[in-house]
Amino acid sequence: MSLQILLIEDDAHIRRFLRATLVTQGFQLLEAETGREGLALAASRVPDLVLLDLGLPDLDGTEVIQRLREWSAVPIIILSARGQERDKVDNLDAGADDYLTKPFGVGELLARIRAAVRRSRLNGPSPHDKLVVIGNLKVDLDRRQVFKGGEEIHLTPIEYKLLSVLVRHRGKVVTHRQLLKEVWGPSYTEQHPYLRIFILNLRRKLEDNPTRPAYLLTEPGVGYRLRDE
Ligand code: CA
Repeated sequence: MSLQILLIEDDAHIRRFLRATLVTQGFQLLEAETGREGLALAASRVPDLVLLDLGLPDLDGTEVIQRLREWSAVPIIILSARGQERDKVDNLDAGADDYLTKPFGVGELLARIRAAVRRSRLNGPSPHDKLVVIGNLKVDLDRRQVFKGGEEIHLTPIEYKLLSVLVRHRGKVVTHRQLLKEVWGPSYTEQHPYLRIFILNLRRKLEDNPTRPAYLLTEPGVGYRLRDE
């Protein structure tokens, strides 16, 4: 069974490009030009993944996400124009899974689709009894232990909590707000300096070269992404 992708995009050129790319890769493609049409197709055809353009003629992208999230956990990847950092953040916070900035490469698009589908198949991986291996890092979520190249790394409770949130969402961008909320709590969502400090500490402990991180990647203006393989 090939995966069915719903593309909600009003730009005919981008639709044509994505159609050619995705159909060649063996995906089935459903297309909608407006938010309302997209929501109707999502309900009637139940796609495996949604690619959503933020600039639609009828509905705001955030509204499409919110309405979808009322009843569906389908992975949503946002397609956004450059310089819409604030939009990306709001839409990730609204429940989108990932985003691509136009113009994007085919390789990147396919990698994001594969990662989003893999995560949704795991169906919210259980936070327990899990041994996660990423490159030469190993995180034992059950025993709360972290290893680098076989050697145990000692993390403070906050560092561990931050890492475990990123591990749970590995491969996916997690917004500053989401991280602050999950690690420190809902009243700390604007405390970006906390986050920066702890990310720096984690990088010092986990990365070979903390100034050029290979695992804990910065998504400028949006958040952080932990590599997932
Ligand atoms: Ca558009």
